[in-house]
Amino acid sequence: MYRWEDLECSDLWEIADSFLDGALLTETDHAVIKHIEACASCRRELNARRQLRSTLRSAFMHAQELSEPAGFADRLRRLLRSTVSSDRSPFEPRG
Ligand SMILES: [Zn+2]
Repeated sequence: MYRWEDLECSDLWEIADSFLDGALLTETDHAVIKHIEACASCRRELNARRQLRSTLRSAFMHAQELSEPAGFADRLRRLLRSTVSSDRSPFEPRG
């Protein structure tokens, strides 16, 4: 169990991933929050790590889209094209 007064930057880094996962006990969670409120470098590092995780997550989801069965993207494109052509945009130039 951590009290935030006892939490060192190195301690924080051991539990940073659990913190970002929301997997810490409430008390420990609060200790981390207290620490990063007081410690600018940990705050910066934690933000960077959180950003990296969301970047990785969206890259992963994008990779899954790319692995859709062949022809899926083509089918989707054709479907979109037929929808657009049957419903003319009001912003299309006249004449
Ligand atoms: Zn720190």
